[in-house]
Amino acid sequence: MDDIEPLEHVNSDRTDAERNKFRQEQYADPTLAVFWERANRGSSDFKIVSGLLFRVPFEAALSDDQMQLVIPTAYQAEVIRLAHDTPVSGHFGINKTRQRIAAYFFFPKMNKKVAEYVKTCHACQMIRPKQVHDRQPL
Ligand SMILES: [Zn+2]
Repeated sequence: MDDIEPLEHVNSDRTDAERNKFRQEQYADPTLAVFWERANRGSSDFKIVSGLLFRVPFEAALSDDQMQLVIPTAYQAEVIRLAHDTPVSGHFGINKTRQRIAAYFFFPKMNKKVAEYVKTCHACQMIRPKQVHDRQPL
C-alpha cells in the first residue's frame, strides 16, 4: 500500500499559515457544522484533536491512529486531485481514488464527488477509450 503515502503529507507539509487557514475553513464550513456538533456532544464517530475535526471510522474506533481528517469544501477538489492524479502511477479509477482518500480523509458526499471528478477529468478523457453509455442519469 505504499502508493497511498504521498497523501499522508498533504497537511504535514503545509506552513503554519496554511494550516491555520485550513483550520478556519474547516471550522467555518457550514456543510461540516453537523460533524462539529457531534464531536462537541462527545460522539464516538467525530473527534476534535488539536483544534482539528476528525472522523473516527467504525472499524478504527479502538485505535486513534486511523482517524480521517475532515476536509472542508474549499480543499476537497485538491484532495481528490492528489488522490486521483499521481505523477508516478497516473490516473486512478473511481474506486481506487475513493480508497486512497478514505485512508486519511473524510468529507460529505465523498463517493459522489469523486465519481464526478474522475468522470470529468480532462486527462482521463483524452487517454481512455470512449465510453458512450457510461453516465447515469441524475
Ligand atoms: Zn484523470
